Amino acid sequence: MTMMPNWLMQRAFLTPERIAVAAEEETVTFHELHIRTLRKAAAMQGEGMGKGSRCAVLMKNSLDMAVTIHALAYIGAQAILLNTRLTAAELDYQLRDSEAEYLLYHHALEHQWEKPSWISIDSRNLESLTETEMFEKTFHLDETATIMYTSGTTGKPKGVMQTFGNHYWSASGSSLNLGLHHDDRWLCAVPLFHISGLSILMRGIIYGMTVVLHETFQPEKANKAIMEEGVTIASVVQAMLTRMLEDLGDAKFPDSLRVMLLGGGPAPMPLLKECKEKSIPVYQTYGMTETSSQIVTLSPEYSFSKLGSAGKPLFPCRIKIMNSGAECPPMAEGEIYVQGPNVTKGYWKRESTFHDGFLPTGDIGYLDEDGFLFVLDRRSDLIVSGGENVYPAEIEAVLLSHPSVLEAGAAGADDPKWGQVPVAYVVLKEHVSEAELLSYCRERLAKYKLPSRIYFRDSLPRNASSKLMRRMLADGGRHD
Ligand code: ATP
Ligand code: MG
Repeated sequence: MTMMPNWLMQRAFLTPERIAVAAEEETVTFHELHIRTLRKAAAMQGEGMGKGSRCAVLMKNSLDMAVTIHALAYIGAQAILLNTRLTAAELDYQLRDSEAEYLLYHHALEHQWEKPSWISIDSRNLESLTETEMFEKTFHLDETATIMYTSGTTGKPKGVMQTFGNHYWSASGSSLNLGLHHDDRWLCAVPLFHISGLSILMRGIIYGMTVVLHETFQPEKANKAIMEEGVTIASVVQAMLTRMLEDLGDAKFPDSLRVMLLGGGPAPMPLLKECKEKSIPVYQTYGMTETSSQIVTLSPEYSFSKLGSAGKPLFPCRIKIMNSGAECPPMAEGEIYVQGPNVTKGYWKRESTFHDGFLPTGDIGYLDEDGFLFVLDRRSDLIVSGGENVYPAEIEAVLLSHPSVLEAGAAGADDPKWGQVPVAYVVLKEHVSEAELLSYCRERLAKYKLPSRIYFRDSLPRNASSKLMRRMLADGGRHD
């Protein structure tokens, strides 16, 4: 079993005076972060938590949340990170499924859950001056550090076991691609309970880099952090970047911004063009909870020649495309399989899904002749109409390019002649008729991809991560 020193302890020893976290409420050095973590860890031990304890965390981005996550590693407990936007029933499922013994919560989120059978503790009450307790000086890279549930876009969320090794290799794979500069400051306005945010926290202590931590995403604040506070790298999803550009107006980001890491979904062409005009260094990326963040990333020099691609794998990773048990040649579509030391060892309490050391992702895509990955869609959302594959994402992209359409979703409906036919659901910005939208689609989509109907809705069903749940489009699903 490979061992390493406890990362934050090592970092506090190596570079104690550097700024570790610049949170909105305060800024702390690695030494101060370590001292706070020690206090929290001692208090956790005082509550009975310890090696192997299963501790759920229901908190908002804050210095306290960062300290809580590190403190759980100090006492050798597993952190189960919960999405604060889950409903009471969804929270209940994840708490029970993960077999959490403790729930550490932010006081503002109290009463979001029902009838607890675990010990719940307000994180404010976890402060102790005892510094003499025994803490984990060593991390075993094969041990589970965190459990994080997938977003539940295609089915029930699955608990992904992320080991210390997964986090370490994810951080090192990212830096082998993006480089590491002495003045790097990484903006984290994405949630720490998602891998996008947690991976920034891990990089911070592994690299010795400052994490600029925002409680929530606000475009003005994010832009200010880049313009005035020396942020060099920012992690965003498409909706965040769109709002940041709106707020930016005619202004430009300074050269100090060297990476705008854009993940979570495909990047639309108009957005990429605007970024190019404004010299914003967009790196598109493909990753998931199971890969502990990025696994494939596209550098800006390819953003047009490889338009629509998510890029090439990070140095320690491999990807392949599989169809009917065989590896696909370039340009052939199939399921994306991933391998690498950042890939989870498996789902909590579920049977292994690995094939020859590769994890099937449930996403469909292809590799071009140069080895660039193009992600097409989710396998479970694929519509097969008259024997032809129809990707909902392609229909949605066309509908979204119409100026009157705000949101779009597509799914298959049973059809006696074709087996399935695509139908679409849209939320409008301004009035447009179904006939008009259909004729717009007809000019841009092959006949078999054309929606048989387009329904108008007030909102589309989305999960706690704001992702579209296509399987619920027909019945409306959860609206929030
Ligand atoms: P569940 O697995 O429960 O259905 P989920 O897959 O949405 O939920 P996450 O791990 O949060 O849970 O999301 C990862 C998924 O997001 C990927 O598997 C892929 O479908 C999608 N995704 C991420 N990056 C990209 C990208 N660059 N292009 C297209 N899709 C992407
Ligand atoms: Mg998934």
